[in-house]
Amino acid sequence: MTAPTPFIAGNWKMNGTRASIAEARAVAAQVDGRRARVAICPPTTLIEPMSEALAGTAVLVGAQDCHCDEAGAFTGDISAEMLADAGAKLVILGHSERRAGYGETDELVARKARASVRAGLEPIVCVGETLEQRKAGKALEVVIGQLKGSLPRELDRRAYSVAYEPVWAIGTGLTPSLPEIEEMHTAIRATLRELFGDNGDKPPILYGGSVKPDNAAAILHAAEVGGALVGGASLKAEEFLAINNAA
Ligand code: PEP
Repeated sequence: MTAPTPFIAGNWKMNGTRASIAEARAVAAQVDGRRARVAICPPTTLIEPMSEALAGTAVLVGAQDCHCDEAGAFTGDISAEMLADAGAKLVILGHSERRAGYGETDELVARKARASVRAGLEPIVCVGETLEQRKAGKALEVVIGQLKGSLPRELDRRAYSVAYEPVWAIGTGLTPSLPEIEEMHTAIRATLRELFGDNGDKPPILYGGSVKPDNAAAILHAAEVGGALVGGASLKAEEFLAINNAA
């Protein structure tokens, strides 16, 4: 059996203006989708211009969050339908920066995941423990609990991925050891099977947290790692391409 194509997604967070679309174009010029499936999730303001700039290339454009309702009196929010209308194909949900900074609960993340299904967006559902939780020996319990609470039944038979992102590894240059990554990814796969039966074998489980060109190959080839969610190193085409080339 041939190994599934890895999925590498870049999370630009609150970085980038129209001028930054040149970086996305530079990525698209070097990527044909055969080595890895590639996505860039820019800030919302860039979804439409980036989707237009990358039309016809192998690079998908995604969003970083969505509201769970389709429309209404939610000042400042954006629905999954609006993101799809702007050209997004994917949406990151439950990122730890949103869980910590905006109090997003597993239940809210699950509602957003249902909204993404409703709008035809492919969600990347993020889970991950804090350093305190890992030190207390609770990493597995916390992550599996988040997973069970954040994945609605509606995802069954849909395209989605899970991103394991230890909070303490995001933007810090720290990463778990390969055995720690493999232990967590194997537990996540077992949980997906428990929730969705054989269909739980399909979604890629991405690792996220300080993935860089120099550690990407080892991480991407670890057991049950189906790709990477990349923050800081996705902002520069050269670094993001080097990570893709490590797949
Ligand atoms: C992220 O925030 O999703 C992330 C993985 O960030 P970084 O790669 O910068 O650690």
